[in-house]
Amino acid sequence: MLPPALLGLIINSQSLQLLRDVFGYTAFRGEQQAIVEHVTTGGDALVLMPTGGGKSLCYQIPALLRPGAGIVVSPLIALMQNQVDALIQLGVKAAFLNSSISADAAREVQGRLLRGELDLLYVAPERLLMPSFLTLLEQVHGNANTAFPTPPPEGLREGVNSGIALFAIDEAHCVSQWGHDFRPEYRALTVLHERFPSVPRIALTATADTPTRGEIIERLALEQARQFVSSFDRANIRYRVTQKSNARNQLQAFLNAEHPNDAGIVYCLSRKKVEESAAWLKERGWDALPYHAGLDAATRSKNQGRFLREEGVVMVATVAFGMGIDKPNVRFVAHLDLPKSMEGYYQETGRAGRDGLPANAWLAYGLGDVVSMRQMIDGGDAPEERKRLERQKLDALLGYCESTTCRHQTVLRYFGEEHPGNCGECDNCLEPVDTWNATQAAQMALSCAYRTGQRFGAGHLSDVLIGKATERVEKFNHQRLSTFGIGKELGATQWSSVYRQLVASGLLEADAEAYGGLKLTETSRPVLRGEREVWLRRDADPAVQKAGRKAMRAERTAKAREPFSGANEDRLWLALKAKRMELARKQGVPPYVIFHDSTLLEILNCRPCSLAELGEISGVGQAKLAKYGEAFLKVVEAEKLTSE
Ligand code: ADP
Ligand code: ZN
Repeated sequence: MLPPALLGLIINSQSLQLLRDVFGYTAFRGEQQAIVEHVTTGGDALVLMPTGGGKSLCYQIPALLRPGAGIVVSPLIALMQNQVDALIQLGVKAAFLNSSISADAAREVQGRLLRGELDLLYVAPERLLMPSFLTLLEQVHGNANTAFPTPPPEGLREGVNSGIALFAIDEAHCVSQWGHDFRPEYRALTVLHERFPSVPRIALTATADTPTRGEIIERLALEQARQFVSSFDRANIRYRVTQKSNARNQLQAFLNAEHPNDAGIVYCLSRKKVEESAAWLKERGWDALPYHAGLDAATRSKNQGRFLREEGVVMVATVAFGMGIDKPNVRFVAHLDLPKSMEGYYQETGRAGRDGLPANAWLAYGLGDVVSMRQMIDGGDAPEERKRLERQKLDALLGYCESTTCRHQTVLRYFGEEHPGNCGECDNCLEPVDTWNATQAAQMALSCAYRTGQRFGAGHLSDVLIGKATERVEKFNHQRLSTFGIGKELGATQWSSVYRQLVASGLLEADAEAYGGLKLTETSRPVLRGEREVWLRRDADPAVQKAGRKAMRAERTAKAREPFSGANEDRLWLALKAKRMELARKQGVPPYVIFHDSTLLEILNCRPCSLAELGEISGVGQAKLAKYGEAFLKVVEAEKLTSE
């Protein structure tokens, strides 16, 4: 047995070599190297890393370094194919087993596993837990060649690779009953530890909250595992919250300005709204597709396939879409409805920009959303305890929407992480929001709700405050009230902003029984008595907001197009993308499996002249260099000739 320090050195140099040769990357990111070393030497690990942080390498490299096949448990059947395709492109011997393949194909994969012909095997949890499969694993484990460390890899190891290298439990938060990804089979995965105590386990998730972490440790019996917690900041995502006026038009303006050709996801709350919004976008020329749990499986898988394999598809979806979507170049995530919680918001927006390039998280929200979300919770049939939790979660999200400070800071604070603020990238940092002392306005708004019997919505209450003698006002005799016309200094938009913020901060609540009539709460009393000040954000005047947006857009476009300085660059960029698509189509894989956008961008910037130069570019490993090097060099060469 080697002394641990020496073993560590050997592993670090071997893992770096694999990182370069196989994956084509120059350096590990963040905690990756420490995790790789820990797992390769046989330790259990719990890895909490944001989406796009680079979790896959944390088990792929140890699986290559340790003797035997790495068994990866993943609930994402639809994506196993892509993950395996991507590995095969890198020259790794990978396969998957799930219900989508035939019995014959499954037998063939099991045979390869038994013969020691696999580096990585992806398995669905229900398949893994089958008694016959566990027996097979025991047989494989019994064949193990325990010599370790293995000799330094030369390219990838040839020959027999027997035994089990590790168990990776991906999307480990699926053990949690509280998330919407709960998978009962995940709880049975403790069997791995019981039957294979000598095989290291690594559990990975991008779900950041502490209760979920605790549940993972408990449910998977990972008490002894070392925890690796990364920063959850997604610095490349620009968060933005817009006040809703006409949400679809606002969405279209946003897409036109910033994402005319990009792939992205638009989240809606209901299936109906998904269908309508997808159709609406399609009519206006967007390549938009719907996705929700009510569509049949064939349509869902077809739409998801198009989103993954083609460029520039906009997926309009409920939250049923997205878990584990590993498309790296999703450039925006837009919300037409409020997510249910900060966790949901973080997870959904986190699907943008996995490749680390700039991406947008855009959310439009208004008073109507607050009211309907509150009603949905109150009117649902969950037990009271659950409802209270849901209310708290919604309140935290509303606090975020209304906050006037750095969005990155607010998001991270929610997950218990410090961030210095002033990111210079979110809406609040780019266009600082004014606040105003709205104590008097709040008093007027609250007493108006009170005097009208606490059963009217914000529209009618504003009419009363402004002193508009509408039919409804007259019907209820509200022109006689002392609050009639006392709020003339503010317009209807401003009153609606006041009411939205009062509801969002809990000074008013929407009555589920009275069709969303606004009621006072315990906390409104001190405001009415003049014991508490109320400060509200000054919503940007739509005209001003437009100008601001224009400025942001100009700066943004400049950024996104940084590598382009002229027509030649544009042409080369398109030619590189076309070559990638051609190669992807031939093999029936998504384009990013060939090369990521970031790799293409680097080719565009560096204009490599030789295979050696191309091999230096991040994302170009040995296998891809051999397979595609010539093809891409030719594209660069051809562009040079035409531009001379
Ligand atoms: P996660 O599973 O954590 O969301 P992935 O494993 O899919 O993240 O990695 C996200 C992206 O970052 C992928 O495109 C991956 O190839 C890339 N990546 C991961 N590690 C590195 C690294 N050390 N250097 C460069 N790129 C990396
Ligand atoms: Zn900021």
